[in-house]
Amino acid sequence: MYSVCINAQTRLDYLRSMEIFIADIPDEGLIREGELPVSIFDLAEDDPIRPSGPVQFHAEIFLVDDVVTFSGWLRGKFELQCSTCLEYVDYEADFSDWCSDLDLEEGQQSFEIGEVVREDFLLELPSYPRCDEIVEDRTCPKAELIEQYESDPSSEPGEDADRDVWGALDKWQ
Ligand SMILES: [Zn+2]
Repeated sequence: MYSVCINAQTRLDYLRSMEIFIADIPDEGLIREGELPVSIFDLAEDDPIRPSGPVQFHAEIFLVDDVVTFSGWLRGKFELQCSTCLEYVDYEADFSDWCSDLDLEEGQQSFEIGEVVREDFLLELPSYPRCDEIVEDRTCPKAELIEQYESDPSSEPGEDADRDVWGALDKWQ
């Protein structure tokens, strides 16, 4: 129990240092960069996205009316689950022209840049990726099955088996 409390406290402190007050954003903008701990993601064990470590960001922040805009880059290492074979493969995220914006609610005085970075990683990471599109020289172990099905969706898996039986019988004659 005790260690859980400590961890929660550390995480809060870390993120609090990433809190940005609207009043602190000058007309010429603000530059913030840093590293955010893997704990910001807080995803389920079986989520198709698994962060492998802390993520880095660089943000130029402007305030335009009631909108905070961000531009810069995001980097981080992840494991992504292949949508075809369900294996996890390494993926290095490098979003070099990251842009985002945040609509401020009435009376909102600050925001957590960690929240913005988290949301944008989850949005930008490829959804339903295929492992051989992510990893060079890899062949998805289940790709053949899917291609067979896609080229002839009407073919039942049993049909080939039947043909083999007849083929085998032919040999006997
Ligand atoms: Zn795969």
